[in-house]
Amino acid sequence: MGKYVLRCLECGLRVADAYTNKCPRGHDGLLRSEYSCELSLRKLGGIWKFWDWLPSTEKPFVNSDAMPATYKSEGLARELRLRNLYVSFNGFWPERGAFVETCTFKEYEAIATFQRAYETTSRILVVASAGNTARGFAQVSASCGMPVVCVVPEKALRRLWATKEPSHVVLVAVRGDYPDAIRVAASICDACPHLFVSEGGFRNVARRDALGVVLLDAVFRMHVFPTHYFQAVGSGTGAIGVFEQATRLLNESKNMRGMPRLHLAQNLPFAPMFRAWKARRSKIIPEDTADAEIRIRQMYADVLSNKNPPYALKGGVYEILRATHGEMYGITNEEAKSAQKLFESVEGIDIDPAAAVAVAALIQAVERGVIRKEDTVLLNISGGGYKRLNESHLTCLLCKMDATIRALEIEEIVKELQECIKGHTQRATEAGETLNI
Ligand SMILES: [Zn+2]
Repeated sequence: MGKYVLRCLECGLRVADAYTNKCPRGHDGLLRSEYSCELSLRKLGGIWKFWDWLPSTEKPFVNSDAMPATYKSEGLARELRLRNLYVSFNGFWPERGAFVETCTFKEYEAIATFQRAYETTSRILVVASAGNTARGFAQVSASCGMPVVCVVPEKALRRLWATKEPSHVVLVAVRGDYPDAIRVAASICDACPHLFVSEGGFRNVARRDALGVVLLDAVFRMHVFPTHYFQAVGSGTGAIGVFEQATRLLNESKNMRGMPRLHLAQNLPFAPMFRAWKARRSKIIPEDTADAEIRIRQMYADVLSNKNPPYALKGGVYEILRATHGEMYGITNEEAKSAQKLFESVEGIDIDPAAAVAVAALIQAVERGVIRKEDTVLLNISGGGYKRLNESHLTCLLCKMDATIRALEIEEIVKELQECIKGHTQRATEAGETLNI
């Protein structure tokens, strides 16, 4: 076997990766990457330090310093009376060694996905996003030169920015919300399958393995497995990635203590996985996502809204919660806001609303006595350092790009996209640039 294969969690079939995101036999369960090598730390930049357990067989050409910074908390730890609280900071905080210029751990997904696509397909990636993922892909596209089509809800346009001119990004703005963006992205790929490929979302192993680096980095810094792991979830892709990397590490290392207990948090009033889990259901039912539009508008951390998260399927959130005796938390806007303030005041760095939801969950768990003083806790701050970044960078707004497409029919969109990409390739050739397709 080569460096890695993909295994269907439902039927066990192993397949070579041809940017494969679903079992060829049509199963709904996730594909998981299986690596033949043990993990040794590589002398490579950013998340590539963990190249052994990322889906890439070649020398990484997507260069980036973005990776988690794990440190032992003093301020928040004192506040919550915890002796072994560790923070995995994923954002921009140079003083702590965190250089994620989009200020969110979504950037890791983009780094690993571009590399995977570069090695396994000649098609152009199409990404549907509510905002943060598109920012991650735009930023990485700007530095690696690979084109990408980002499909986002129109209302998310004002939130799209990067710290480098994202000249290889084609933006499609959709009137509607995130599920509409997903639908349009899928239609683009269906209409022109020889040119475009869906990036894959939670089914994309590059995304999950890259987000799981949070756990790998933490274990190498802490020298033990955390007993508890806290994260805010919208789809749960990151939590599944953490579980999968923890499983690999446990299989390999006999000295480590057991699997961390997963504590996952959603933002009320739209929290379908929290509702399903609290009712001890293995499936999300329509009541869990009732009045979605109204509820999503009320959320403080609306990047956590996802009507169809990978909860019930094989390898999904329900299964990983069961496997780790995990827990879910429903966090109100007020709780998130006050946790956000507290974190900034005691740790000295700003965090985004989603990360604040994770902090609030930790506070709840401590108050309920779920965690003991001496327990080892890992808190995933999945985004932060926006204020810190603004002090040192000029950011470019993506929505100022000429290439933004606002057509109504898929055929029209695809035609425009083809023109866009043709023009783009031409301009790049004239400018003497090499496009990495
Ligand atoms: Zn299968």
